[in-house]
Amino acid sequence: MKEKVSFPARVLDTAASAGVVVVGGGTAGIAAAVAAARNGAETLLIEQSGCCGGMAARGLLTSIICMTDGKDVLANGICREFVERITADMKLAETSYRWQNIHPESVKRAADMMLAEAGARVLYETVVTDCAVENGTVTALRCFSPCGGFAVTGKIFIDCTGDANLAALAGVPFEYGDEEGKVMAPTLCVMYDNISYPDDRCNGIGRREWSEAEKNHELPVDEHHFVGFFRNGEGCGAGNLGHIYGTDVLDIFSRSEAWTRGRALARRYHEFFRDKVAGFAKSGLTLSADMLGVRESRRIAGEYQMTSDDYFARRHFDDDIGSFAYPVDIHASGGDAEKQAAVEKKIIEVAYAAGENYGIPYRALLPKNTKNLLAAGRCISTDRAMQSSIRVVPGCMITGEAAGTAAAMTLSKGCSLRTLDVSSLQKRLVEQGAVIKVPPFPPDCRDLFPCGSESSS
Ligand SMILES: Cc1cc2nc3c(=O)[nH]c(=O)nc-3n(C[C@H](O)[C@H](O)[C@H](O)COP(=O)(O)OP(=O)(O)OC[C@H]3O[C@@H](n4cnc5c(N)ncnc54)[C@H](O)[C@@H]3O)c2cc1C
Repeated sequence: MKEKVSFPARVLDTAASAGVVVVGGGTAGIAAAVAAARNGAETLLIEQSGCCGGMAARGLLTSIICMTDGKDVLANGICREFVERITADMKLAETSYRWQNIHPESVKRAADMMLAEAGARVLYETVVTDCAVENGTVTALRCFSPCGGFAVTGKIFIDCTGDANLAALAGVPFEYGDEEGKVMAPTLCVMYDNISYPDDRCNGIGRREWSEAEKNHELPVDEHHFVGFFRNGEGCGAGNLGHIYGTDVLDIFSRSEAWTRGRALARRYHEFFRDKVAGFAKSGLTLSADMLGVRESRRIAGEYQMTSDDYFARRHFDDDIGSFAYPVDIHASGGDAEKQAAVEKKIIEVAYAAGENYGIPYRALLPKNTKNLLAAGRCISTDRAMQSSIRVVPGCMITGEAAGTAAAMTLSKGCSLRTLDVSSLQKRLVEQGAVIKVPPFPPDCRDLFPCGSESSS
């Protein structure tokens, strides 16, 4: 039993108030805030670090993958625009909707521009530490910043924290990990500079040398799942290298240890690249990420839980807010060599054929027991298998854009998140570029919420 400590209650000044308050400025949060602001809502985005982009910026994510199903660009709204802004900033002639390598600085700039142009206000260096909830309605957030503590009030809140931090503070039930409570191992991504690339290849760099070393029992670490290194500029690149096995991302001591282990792994991988991969002999390990690469954490309980069954059935729903096609991709949680090696094989086995996709229902963004809260990004209501598909950036941005649009429309129509006419939400999303494959759309969403318009079961 842990010792409990109570702190004196504090009364805080309200520093800001907005129609839509988005917590977390990762890719889901960017899409949510841009969509809400473009749809006319007074929008505030709260981010604990000094930049937006989350895993795609501070996390040194290497690439944005699988915007398409091989036929259509499914992440065709704000995500597509965001990635095109990134590639324009990187001075690339083309954008790949299948696999686009990214540079973190371009991500940060693209986010700044899109948020400013949409008119969304951003509070950086502000962490949300608590929230006030009355009868399922979130009324205020307790925030902390280097400038002190303050409150933020709002009408609709969107949890884009990746880890469902706001939903957890609001008392939303959640699931975590596999049947033993284990989650996919995180990775501390890296950037290298001073690389003399020997050819035009951008992807999968180092894989051949890694396989060779594995065959010869010469791997520098006990790691059998090699993800890869990807070129993202002149003489530089980013690496998704090394899994920090056995990490419990909801245990702060385990997380803290993961940082130290991640930095040690980064060093060993760089030595491997320097010694074995052509063009890397004089390269430098520029930096390891400023954000732990968490693949999986809390999954909120929502009005609908998307499951592996939905994935394999390529299921669409009456209340789809978008379509997606990235395979189920569950990285191993532990150091078992066979399980690690099976991951890449499994992705190929379960991947869809070109043109196949599944639908993302609006209900998966609606956390149970709440009235004015939405979730977007990798924490929406799914089982583990489905989370491992939706968690990549385009999936997160599709849900972010839908959540921001739904929040703004709810305010402008004077209804609630659960009485919002889903067909008009779908129509608006399609106008914004979304690919929704279930027409004719239902006339309204009342039947979707059997517990009534303000369901809080
Ligand atoms: C190692 C790794 C490799 C990956 N590789 C790929 C890839 O190649 N391609 C791809 O498309 N996807 C990839 N993914 C998946 C993808 O990057 C992430 O799942 C996705 O970016 C998550 O977006 P998000 O907006 O939901 O969350 P995040 O990017 O995690 O953003 C959450 C934001 O919320 C902020 N925040 C959290 N709590 C609070 C709080 N209390 N107050 C204020 N702010 C808060 C955080 O600072 C952060 O900025 C990878 C993921 C990992 C971990």
